[in-house]
Amino acid sequence: MILKQFEKAKTTVLTKENKHAKILANDVTIKAQLKNLLKLDQKTFARYLISRDPIAGKIPTSEINEIIESSIKCGTDEATKLLNKYKTQSPTEISKELNLNLKLEDEQDTMDFIYFGLFESPRDITIYTSNIKKATNILEEIKANYFKSNFIDIVLAHEIFHYIEHHDRNLYSNTRQINLWSLGKLYTHKSTLICTGEIAGMSFAKTLLSLDFDPTILDYIFLLAFDYDKADKLYKQIIKYS
Ligand SMILES: [Zn+2]
Repeated sequence: MILKQFEKAKTTVLTKENKHAKILANDVTIKAQLKNLLKLDQKTFARYLISRDPIAGKIPTSEINEIIESSIKCGTDEATKLLNKYKTQSPTEISKELNLNLKLEDEQDTMDFIYFGLFESPRDITIYTSNIKKATNILEEIKANYFKSNFIDIVLAHEIFHYIEHHDRNLYSNTRQINLWSLGKLYTHKSTLICTGEIAGMSFAKTLLSLDFDPTILDYIFLLAFDYDKADKLYKQIIKYS
């Protein structure tokens, strides 16, 4: 997987004080945006995730609904299988059952991208706890703590889906292809999509943790902790699909 939700957010580096002041000055707007995003359904967020796919423009409009529905189902089905098998909703417990090497990283060396979670083949998952904590601290500070769920669990659940995806070639998110171009009837060049795995990963986390909101909202929250202006732009992008 090259480009993933949660995994990276590119930001400009503002000074700590500037960033903080900007968030506090915009707390009313942020709370209103959060409340609006909490109301959006999975299909709306899925349309946003499709729009971020590097080859979004090549997806025929007539295929979009099927891609959304099948990707959501793919994530839900995989979460249900694990819930039935391991009888726990805890992503940490499930990581142990799956023999994953789970690392909680407090510091991040590279500043090009800010990571929240990362799956690396064959079975390593890193969770960047300090970056996630920055986001939860901000929500607390502006008294926008509308979330009962632990964000670390959500990110870990999403990465567990990438592990499952990596080890099951027959999964919908691996097999769904779109036609890019063809040479008459002789040859058609096809490609898989990034968005199928991202939609399925969010749906997986939502089902596993019985969330009453779509976890794609974390894209906005995580960006907010690092760059208010970019989060504001992202909000406008997402809300377009509602
Ligand atoms: Zn992902």
